[in-house]
Amino acid sequence: MTKVITKTMDKKLDDIVSLCKRRGFVFPGSDIYGGLANTWDYGPYGAQLKMNIKSFWWSTFVKERDDVVGLDSAILMNPKVWEASGHVTSFSDPLMDCKNCKERIRGDKLIEEHLGIEVAAGKTLKQIGEIIKENKLKCPKCGKSDFTEPRSFNLMFRTHQGVIEETAAAIYLRPETAQGIFTNFKNVVQTCRAKIPFGIAQIGKSFRNEITPGNFTYRTREFEQMEIEYFVDPKDKTVIKNTFDDFKKVCWQWYLDLGIKKENLRFREHEKDELSHYSSMTFDIEYDFPFGWGELMGLAYRGDFDLTQHSKFSGKDLTYLDPQTNEKYLPHVIEPSFGADRTTLIALIDAYDEDEVDGEKRTVMRFDPKIAPVKAAVFPLMKKDELTGIAKGIYDTLKKKFDIEYDDSGAIGKRYRRQDEIGTPFCITVDYDTINDQTVTIRERDSMKQERVKIEDLAGIIAAKVA
Ligand code: ATP
Repeated sequence: MTKVITKTMDKKLDDIVSLCKRRGFVFPGSDIYGGLANTWDYGPYGAQLKMNIKSFWWSTFVKERDDVVGLDSAILMNPKVWEASGHVTSFSDPLMDCKNCKERIRGDKLIEEHLGIEVAAGKTLKQIGEIIKENKLKCPKCGKSDFTEPRSFNLMFRTHQGVIEETAAAIYLRPETAQGIFTNFKNVVQTCRAKIPFGIAQIGKSFRNEITPGNFTYRTREFEQMEIEYFVDPKDKTVIKNTFDDFKKVCWQWYLDLGIKKENLRFREHEKDELSHYSSMTFDIEYDFPFGWGELMGLAYRGDFDLTQHSKFSGKDLTYLDPQTNEKYLPHVIEPSFGADRTTLIALIDAYDEDEVDGEKRTVMRFDPKIAPVKAAVFPLMKKDELTGIAKGIYDTLKKKFDIEYDDSGAIGKRYRRQDEIGTPFCITVDYDTINDQTVTIRERDSMKQERVKIEDLAGIIAAKVA
């Protein structure tokens, strides 16, 4: 009988990065050219994992709700959008250089990491410089304490639209997907007969010229967001509070349903001086990463900041006409904003596990079956025609409904280990008994228990677990 020893382990980011590369989840970007710092490409299993996460998010927040509709807006927008939203003037970080080793540093993060105070939005550049001097904070690279004064660095990527660079208009790659939602508010109300309260959701790429990217895919300059702008009547303070509280619950529950362990999650409320320029209340959900607690998603009460600004800058009336009271008003907004890449990263970290099987180390990705990139693998016990024919038949039937792999190479133990490392919940093996009784063994990834089941029951068994 197989002897399994489970252990509690300290997860190391390096082990996860290495498994990701070895097993085709995440590759370094532009790999054959020596890479491009802090860019990452999702390999076949990573792409499928991320797609499953996005589609689970879309199901939960759009498909299964009657009060949210979807959108897919353009990355490139009229530059006035970013003047209106405040990003041209306020979307910046305090940048400092170490005079000794020339390392570029975010002043607010240096304070946060060493003194444990959140100073993201509240302190002036001068105050940040003073705190660093007073506390003699050191450069994380060379250990010296000699920095330039902090200066404001805008995080938006600027580019040019048009053929001739000198005369072409300067435009930005969007730093968030939210503004595409606000600028389409009127279009959605008019075309979908949406009635307040309702939300508009979108998933898409955003770009920020981060000063200190790193920690694998945690902070990159190109990333994907999953955002909802939920519009409510500003007069109804109870609805606003209930909607905010309700989103707190459903966002938290969404991470649990994704299979993330509760003890690795926590809420954190933003201090008053930490709030973004548009928000009067923000909660983050954070995860206990191997490098410390970090933000996964933010839930912000944005008031009517954005619609007011876009009405002003565009000259268009963006008020909502209440069909019952005939009253016109600018709705207030509650915004849950998730990162698709950070969620994919925690799905990988949370799933990563090592145990010992018959004295040998086994690495296993314990993904919740609904997000596992491969749901089942089909093996013939040996590469013999009478077995491979049946196994391929099972594979051809199941792959119409699920993501399935077929593997007939090498020892069966090795094939199991490979599937464990990519987190496949089920391995189905065809052996000589199959020829006579139309049954196969199905092995469950976590318990490694094997059961004999009828071929005709396989689709039902898998469906019950992955739904
Ligand atoms: P942080 O404080 O980590 O910079 P933020 O508060 O600026 O994040 P938001 O503007 O609230 O982030 O964006 C919403 C979500 O988008 C974040 O919770 C995160 O999941 C994701 N996100 C933001 N910036 C990045 C990035 N540079 N790389 C990967 N994901 C990101």
